[in-house]
Amino acid sequence: MTTYFRPSVEAMAGYIPGEQPKPGTNIIKLNTNENPYPPSPEAIAVLRNLDSEWLRRYPDPYANEFRYAIAEALEVPLDWIIVSNGSDELLNVVVRACAELGRKVVYPMPTYVLYRTLTDMQPAERVEIPYGEDYRLPIEELVAANGAVTFIASPNSPSGHIVPLEDLRQLAAKLSGVLVVDEAYVDFAEETALPLVKEFENVIVIRTLSKGYSLAGLRLGFGIANPKLLSGLFKVKDSYNIDAIACLVGAAAMRDQSYKNECAEKVKASRARLAVELKQLGFRLWNSQGNFFLTQPPKGNAEQIYLALKERGILVRYFKQPGLEDKLRITVGTEEQNQILVEALIHYCNG
Ligand SMILES: *Cc1c(COP(=O)(O)O)cnc(C)c1O
Repeated sequence: MTTYFRPSVEAMAGYIPGEQPKPGTNIIKLNTNENPYPPSPEAIAVLRNLDSEWLRRYPDPYANEFRYAIAEALEVPLDWIIVSNGSDELLNVVVRACAELGRKVVYPMPTYVLYRTLTDMQPAERVEIPYGEDYRLPIEELVAANGAVTFIASPNSPSGHIVPLEDLRQLAAKLSGVLVVDEAYVDFAEETALPLVKEFENVIVIRTLSKGYSLAGLRLGFGIANPKLLSGLFKVKDSYNIDAIACLVGAAAMRDQSYKNECAEKVKASRARLAVELKQLGFRLWNSQGNFFLTQPPKGNAEQIYLALKERGILVRYFKQPGLEDKLRITVGTEEQNQILVEALIHYCNG
């Protein structure tokens, strides 16, 4: 059989995204950690009033309008910011810029499955190190693996746990390669690793507008690191990676921090209530600082529950992966959605 592909592409498993039913279908979507609230009204107003001249021309290769808004909101200098087409693109850019055969990619497991996909297609060797009991960060093992890139998601998915800043600091100090702290869920968390980018030249903190800012469809992410580390990443990214619409809408969303924070507070309050209700049903829960929970149903029959919920129009995430087969990841929805979920679970448990 002939193949058109490089051996690493031929051999790799493609990333399997969560199911994405069409908007408007009557589905309660708690499977890919979107924010249940709409984007900032300021961002929507920019979209409505967009001048078509923005579409005729190429966009700004550095998306500076969006970068300025980030610089202001986070109080970081402009040249410490790189922006990307979703944070997934930036994760990919880091792998392409830093890893190849002989230059390893390292991360603790379980975590975001895309790290594996990006490494395998490069190709580069990957070292997957299991998290310790209660998701303790295996610092010594991670250091010993000597990655050109080390990925840590914090809060982590699917577990929802946050990696203590002090652990990340120790890890950064001991690594010679790049430490990527993927903060996709930071807007729902109590802690950030952002201070580390000033302390360590090898640290990049990556964020997204997909979760906290309710803009998953727009595809915007960004990274904060010192300009020396960013210089290599700028060479590798697509030159026009941020389209003109995303740049302007994203800038408006970023300037509206108070709206983002209000929505995050609502999600956090719902997260606390949902935790109580799931525990009452006998579900085991891990403490989460994301907008989702990893949970283990009392009888461990996660796949059956996933299918039963789907039948009732409720999508949650089931990972057929070692260590996760008996668990579900459930996104925190609106109060109303969470109630429908809990009622469906009660129905299932009694049925
Ligand atoms: C959702 C998610 C991302 C991807 O975010 P995009 O900006 O939508 O590409 C990255 N990392 C983790 C851990 C995520 O859960």
